[in-house]
Amino acid sequence: MLKLIKGGRVYSAEYQGQKDVLIVGDKIGMIDEDIDPSVGILEVEVIDAAGKLVVPGFIDQHVHIIGGGGEMGFASRTPEIMLSQVVRAGVTTLVGLLGTDGTTRQVHSLLAKTRGLEIEGITTYIYTGAYEIPTRTITGNVRSDIILIDKVLGTGEVAISDHRSSQPSRQELKRLVAEARVGGILSGKPGMVHLHVGDGRDGLEMVFEIVEESEIPVSQFVPTHVNRREKLLEQAVRFALMGGVIDITAGVSPTSGDGDSVKSSTAVRRCIEKGVPADRITMSSDGNGSLPEFDGKGNVVGMMVGSMDTLHRELKDLVREEGLDLSLALKTVTSNVAGVLGLYPRKGRICAGADADITVLDEGLDIEMVFAKGRKMMDRGEVIVKGTFE
Ligand SMILES: [Zn+2]
Repeated sequence: MLKLIKGGRVYSAEYQGQKDVLIVGDKIGMIDEDIDPSVGILEVEVIDAAGKLVVPGFIDQHVHIIGGGGEMGFASRTPEIMLSQVVRAGVTTLVGLLGTDGTTRQVHSLLAKTRGLEIEGITTYIYTGAYEIPTRTITGNVRSDIILIDKVLGTGEVAISDHRSSQPSRQELKRLVAEARVGGILSGKPGMVHLHVGDGRDGLEMVFEIVEESEIPVSQFVPTHVNRREKLLEQAVRFALMGGVIDITAGVSPTSGDGDSVKSSTAVRRCIEKGVPADRITMSSDGNGSLPEFDGKGNVVGMMVGSMDTLHRELKDLVREEGLDLSLALKTVTSNVAGVLGLYPRKGRICAGADADITVLDEGLDIEMVFAKGRKMMDRGEVIVKGTFE
């Protein structure tokens, strides 16, 4: 089945001009100024995109797809994600992960959930592990999980500088990173350590020490939540200037926590102003994770659930409030993320040969259509492909 998205302004993530995009099965077959749908022998579904923006489907590298949380006891475990929540967010590729709870949540169930979401229509991967070191795996160790299980790209989210972490020593973290790195080398994957950085005062200090004292390259770490503290964001800028990629958590606002966090879109703009190359910044949603609030003594005082919608909201704010060029803003949720995950050039761009993962925005940057692997999942702002139990 062929689909022709006609007359839209195409971003890949750089602006390509007004173009027609021909979808052939699950791939983008051709992009040109004016493609005539009546020339071939196959039937073509023509989708009018005049006046609209045709951009790569968003990639979210941090989603608690089987839920997370539990910081206020068993009743505070957050729910599993449903397909429509993913599609509504404009996301066509995601990475599922575990967080604080690696005991009642397991990598096995994470893997099963990603396989389910993949069957339902989107592209999915996982990190093996959880907050703690030694961490949780399927085969018994991180290196084997990365090498042997197709969907495992690396390990995470491993927690440092957090009262909920396993308080890993530098040596423990270093060994884990080395294991993931070799797993990645042997399987042609990134083998990254997706690093949850908490509120602790040391922030990224341990990472700097490891990079300094070992041969492990800075690109092996992907620190996330770096906008949760002013001081941490400063460290993140330093980390990115050393060549690393930093991940900003969407939906963070200065009113969350004790007021020391930096709004996500503002954090992106500030990093760019401080000289961080735009291709070293990504954003992720922390969708379906718990967002507990702690007082100064580590007691939970409240809890919310993260939503994948924040990714698109911050993208809009990047353009409208922070004044960023749209192609630059798009990079943080498309091509840059594809790069970190080792999926570029198959994902994160609109060009012939890439997967047909496309999000169509209206002029106000609201999501109107979503195509995942060539299948239309959302039309006129309504999710039309639902999950099995929705
Ligand atoms: Zn986290």
